[in-house]
Amino acid sequence: MSDASGRGNDSVPLMLDAFAITAAARRAYGSDGRLSLPHTAHWPIFPFETDNLEVRHVEDPVVPEPPRRDEAVADCSTCQSDDDRYVWNDERWRVSMSEEPLSLPAVVLHSRAHLDFDQLTDQLGAEMGVLVVRIQRALAAIEGVARVHVYKWGDGGVHLHILLVARPLGMMQLRGMFLTTWLYALPPLAPQLWTEIRAHVGGALDADS
Ligand SMILES: [Zn+2]
Repeated sequence: MSDASGRGNDSVPLMLDAFAITAAARRAYGSDGRLSLPHTAHWPIFPFETDNLEVRHVEDPVVPEPPRRDEAVADCSTCQSDDDRYVWNDERWRVSMSEEPLSLPAVVLHSRAHLDFDQLTDQLGAEMGVLVVRIQRALAAIEGVARVHVYKWGDGGVHLHILLVARPLGMMQLRGMFLTTWLYALPPLAPQLWTEIRAHVGGALDADS
């Protein structure tokens, strides 16, 4: 039997219970007192050798969670940084790249206002979508870029930030979900190339807007 909500009479509450998930994880521990490696650890794109690799013990949930970085506007590193730190900006959005070279082209889209993803209006959401597409287009136009990844986490800093990272053509090991681990494992690009990429991204967004 289902009620009007489509859920059966014996349905469970529609919620994620971190304590139940943690308890279930601990019940799934093997004889070594840990979870076994996930199947993704055996994918060719996994960045680490699996010999002696162990899954960390599943920690107790922390509820309420501690504050993230930059909760207050006055302390927010994004709000407090001037436009000249960004490679592009308009009235409602700013785009940054590290001033120090990273190993791969990585671009971050920020709202100008101090807000998070769940506070976006439909209009801001639509603008964000267009800008994500334009940034991907700018990165994809660089010779030797195979694909551009888009990431939104938000567990660290409060102020909305979307990360885009370009994967070099032919680096098959860098496909998929571990690209951001490789980003910090590989050595930085040459400073002059990094400067050129920053200028290219800013110029491409200017030309698109
Ligand atoms: Zn902010």
